[in-house]
Amino acid sequence: MTGSPLGATDAPAESRRSGTFETLSLRGVGRTFGKTAALKGLDLEIRRGEFIALLGPSGCGKSTALNCLAGLLPLTSGSIWQDETRIDVLPPERRGFGMVFQNYALFPHMSVRKNVAFGLTMRRLPKAETARRTEEAIRLVRLEEHAHKLPGQLSGGQQQRVAIARAIVLEPSLVLMDEPLSNLDAKLRLEMRTEIRRLHQSLGLTTVYVTHDQEEALSLADRLVILRAGTVQQIGTPEELHNRPVNQHVADFMGYRNLIRLTAGERTDDGIRVTGEGLDLVGTHLDDLTPGAAVVAAVRPEDVRLFEPGTTGDNRFPAIVEVVEYQGRELAVEARTESGLRWHLRTSHRLAPGDAVVLGVAVERLLVFRDDTAEAPKNVSVASERESV
Ligand code: ATP
Repeated sequence: MTGSPLGATDAPAESRRSGTFETLSLRGVGRTFGKTAALKGLDLEIRRGEFIALLGPSGCGKSTALNCLAGLLPLTSGSIWQDETRIDVLPPERRGFGMVFQNYALFPHMSVRKNVAFGLTMRRLPKAETARRTEEAIRLVRLEEHAHKLPGQLSGGQQQRVAIARAIVLEPSLVLMDEPLSNLDAKLRLEMRTEIRRLHQSLGLTTVYVTHDQEEALSLADRLVILRAGTVQQIGTPEELHNRPVNQHVADFMGYRNLIRLTAGERTDDGIRVTGEGLDLVGTHLDDLTPGAAVVAAVRPEDVRLFEPGTTGDNRFPAIVEVVEYQGRELAVEARTESGLRWHLRTSHRLAPGDAVVLGVAVERLLVFRDDTAEAPKNVSVASERESV
């Protein structure tokens, strides 16, 4: 990829964009629908060039946040600022943002070329410039050979490329994407993911991307915003969220598949003791926990270690392998402890159902959170390690 900005001229890409900014600030942004608070006091600073993913379960307020940013939904509280200018009072067309939706929203009777050119035509740009920018956008999304076709003659992935070209041809200061890959099959999703990241980087875009797919968010974004029931749970880089989720809900979203309800014991030199379900483990905690508190211990499958049967030691416990799934080089394994707890782990060892094993977790890899599931709203699923036994 050349890295040349769209419709390259001598001017840097940023200076030709509508409403370029250094920082876009969401301050206490809220939106209610009747009695439903879809989004509560969202504070977020987006820096130019960043790729931000809004991540969370269905109904957590991701699309609401995006639509507030786009100007499609008026705020019920808070404000949005582009540097020193307040923009939440502006209609969508005056914000200069590009949008890409999951359903593509292409004009079915127009060719790819006309779909991409549409926004420029509406802005009454000179014909030659419209043509040049349109061809450049089509080239960037690699649709040169399909430019004359109608959307109905394209695959889902190609249609999504048209939608992306249509957004970037306007050289927007911010691109908003709402689950743009959710209608595509697994292979295309991966391809388009790379494509989106490539375009973001080569065009120097600023992107806000809504998804409920953790892997997609982690692989694309510079920073992630984890939402739950309209409230921000944590904002951070993929690495920060991956290594240090602040609560069980973020952990759940970050792939900590083993979420085990236990009881806090006393502090130890290196962490806190947690017991229950026949287990006596030591983990790492961020929350202030008193002995007897209900806690959730969170462990990622790749952090569960495997030992020979009969091995003893701290933070180790026996289990029997129940389910083995082949996943390339590694196996995804489910093993059950004596008390009936199911543990998820990944290993390159060839295991088979019925094998006796000893599982272990390092203290720093076992994160202990205060259990706040009792406070969880009904529409939020909290993963449980304990499936029906
Ligand atoms: P999904 O991943 O399913 O699209 P989401 O995280 O994008 O979900 P939103 O669409 O932002 O969630 O919805 C947040 C909450 O606001 C939900 O409880 C939803 O039912 C409610 N909501 C959204 N739009 C409206 C509306 N127009 N009228 C009433 N309630 C709404």
